[in-house]
Amino acid sequence: MVISMEKAQGTTSRVYEQLVSIVGSRNASMSEDVLFTYSEDFMTFELPGKADYVAMPKSAEEVQAIIRLANREKVPVTPMVANSSIGSIATPREGGIVLDMRRMNRVIEINEEDQYALVEAGITYAEIVGYMNKHHPDLRIPVTYAPCTSGWIAACIMYGMTDLSMAYGDGSYFLNALEAVLPTGEMIRTGSAMSSPHWNHHAGLPDNGLIGLFIGWNGTSGVITKASLKLFPKRPFRRDYIMDADTVERGFKVQRMIAHKGIVDDVASNNWAWGRVEAGEKIPFSEGIKPGEAELSSWVSFTANTEKELDAKDEIVQKATADGGAKLTRFEDAVSTYTKGDQIHYFKYLPVQLSNDITGGRGGRAQWVGGYCPPSKNAEIYRAVEQVMERHGYNKAGHWIQSYNRLMDHGHEGIVRYNVFGQPHDTPKDIEGHRACLRDIGATMRAHGTVLYKAPAYFSRLNWLGSDPVAVNLLKNIKKMIDPNRIMNPGNLDF
Ligand SMILES: Cc1cc2nc3c(=O)[nH]c(=O)nc-3n(C[C@H](O)[C@H](O)[C@H](O)COP(=O)(O)OP(=O)(O)OC[C@H]3O[C@@H](n4cnc5c(N)ncnc54)[C@H](O)[C@@H]3O)c2cc1C
Repeated sequence: MVISMEKAQGTTSRVYEQLVSIVGSRNASMSEDVLFTYSEDFMTFELPGKADYVAMPKSAEEVQAIIRLANREKVPVTPMVANSSIGSIATPREGGIVLDMRRMNRVIEINEEDQYALVEAGITYAEIVGYMNKHHPDLRIPVTYAPCTSGWIAACIMYGMTDLSMAYGDGSYFLNALEAVLPTGEMIRTGSAMSSPHWNHHAGLPDNGLIGLFIGWNGTSGVITKASLKLFPKRPFRRDYIMDADTVERGFKVQRMIAHKGIVDDVASNNWAWGRVEAGEKIPFSEGIKPGEAELSSWVSFTANTEKELDAKDEIVQKATADGGAKLTRFEDAVSTYTKGDQIHYFKYLPVQLSNDITGGRGGRAQWVGGYCPPSKNAEIYRAVEQVMERHGYNKAGHWIQSYNRLMDHGHEGIVRYNVFGQPHDTPKDIEGHRACLRDIGATMRAHGTVLYKAPAYFSRLNWLGSDPVAVNLLKNIKKMIDPNRIMNPGNLDF
């Protein structure tokens, strides 16, 4: 058994006793069995970490007391909701306290007039979507393909991409204002809540972008306790299409043509290999892409206030697709051939439990490298990653490139993701092989100007490597200034 530094120094019982005095004995633990469940994400090929304590606070005041304790004792703190980023970024890398946020799941206010939800930071997709469906069925929140158990705020602060991101932008756009505890224990409010009693205002004014201190920082800058996120009217009419293209070059081009029209809610795609997994085929495949099989299949979704508006949008989407030489099929017709047809239908009713797909439909682990890149580069990067997977022998093993992309903000930004699937019987050598391939994919994506996100520290290092050194230095100095004892999620984000 590994003896942590605190245990070796004999401070264990003092820290634990203080945690118990803050959250109560039912909500703190240092039992090895309990800590095991927080030691890794049980999903990716990332190595396990090690926690010394877990605490589940119920209020901002309890979070503040825990952070003050950790700062005094110089004990690391890792905030966690579900650790489901597929990058293991909430795994405790240097021991200390895992702050399990899931008891902080209250909806504090739904403001229909100013269209925002003020919620505590541990609320999950299942909880907020269930709440909205029950109490405010005419309002819509941005939802991802993430599991129901994933955190809503956690997704937005990590630049998540949602079913409303095409219309508005990545997850950070949806944040109006937030409250957080800094690593030294002070409570801070940003966005409109910094200078007024209102929680409706988007970042920018009056905090000059200070809210950015908590976006994309992988929990290394403090602990968010509550935040206000944007709500939208649920338009009563909706249509979904599958847009098939013979090549990824054509598919990505038609995606952009549709996005530039400025009228759809969502455009996302899977390549042929991932589509097959979703249709129920198991990896390893016996053959690669077949003649006539679409290389890229995109999901195109739009909503409207009236049937007439829906039809007008439909006409524009149809024309853009035909002009680009791709094929549109109504979602219901396209998925009727899926062997897992029932499951695929739930995609229209997010959140959906996708864990079966993330493991390639047959157990084992999986991991992806994802990044933000100019949408015009998608096909070029796809072909480069294809070569990497070929070099690592995946095609020969019946595991062809698996990719997913999503366009955002009407085509101004977008993400691409490449998955590597393991097998239930993987040996440590196989897993090292998967990790090597993922590293090469990350390096290749960086070489094409992609910025990697929701990724383990070694990918953050790759981001720093190609970045403006003055900006990187400034970020590192900000981190030192706000977290002098380096307690917040150390070892993540290469800080
Ligand atoms: C099958 C599958 C599909 C997915 N599809 C999508 C998708 O379509 N779009 C998408 O965006 N994501 C997707 N994801 C990724 C994932 O679910 C998101 O990253 C997730 O929503 C983040 O929530 P979490 O609870 O897992 O966060 P965690 O991993 O627990 O936390 C994320 C990071 O935020 C930090 N953190 C957590 N809480 C706080 C806090 N209160 N204050 C400060 N820092 C904090 C953590 O330390 C960590 O670094 C998918 C995941 C899976 C498994």
